[in-house]
Amino acid sequence: MRLYSAEALLVDVLDLHDRDRIVAFLTREHGLKRGVAQGARRRYSRFAGQLQPLAKAEITWFEKDGRDLVRVRGVELLRPAHRLQADLEGLLLGSYLADHVLQFAQENEASDHLYRLLDSTIEALLAGAPRDLAARYFETWVLRLQGIFPPPRECPLCGRPFGAGGAVLPMDGDALVCVDCAAGAAGTRVGREVLDALLRFGRLDLGKLAAAPPGEAALRQIEALCARLRRRFLGHELKSWEVIQEARARLPG
Ligand SMILES: [Zn+2]
Repeated sequence: MRLYSAEALLVDVLDLHDRDRIVAFLTREHGLKRGVAQGARRRYSRFAGQLQPLAKAEITWFEKDGRDLVRVRGVELLRPAHRLQADLEGLLLGSYLADHVLQFAQENEASDHLYRLLDSTIEALLAGAPRDLAARYFETWVLRLQGIFPPPRECPLCGRPFGAGGAVLPMDGDALVCVDCAAGAAGTRVGREVLDALLRFGRLDLGKLAAAPPGEAALRQIEALCARLRRRFLGHELKSWEVIQEARARLPG
């Protein structure tokens, strides 16, 4: 049995029986880990108040060869995430971010980029960054880190830069192509404003983006594009995304 310790971001906390909890957490060095926090459901547990989704914590755990679940020994909260847990929209957004990590993170593999992306996105949200913008930035970057959705500079088929005409995501395609290469094929037309926003996502952090954010229409189209590419890659939709769409449809206006 070996003892480990690392700074981590909690992505999931589930009840296990009536005493324990299962915690999923992302680390830079070891990727995604899942562990049992024994006794965490008890009233006077040493984990009391520490196991908050999206919080940053110093986590200490034991690993045994051949076991998928580690045993969590200690959790020391470094940055709570109360602000994201205070209202329904924040909760839904939090579970959306966490869902990406649960689907895309590698277990037991260094995950420095994904860690930094999640860490900086949560940090920005806690500091008051616009939630819609942060969600679009995060989902775009998760796909980018997988190599699925590169910054749209040029057409992957003909190599020419996307001009004023924008790009097209063909119905059966998994990449944006230029209008000429799309040549009348059915697909989603992606205008210049959206391409420019996606290019800015690659250059600027959330703080700078928030100073001059893309418009509502561009954000909705980025969300739809990411959802299509993600669905194609995973073979299914993220549950939290569906819940967010339902909640949005019920909102007035
Ligand atoms: Zn082309």
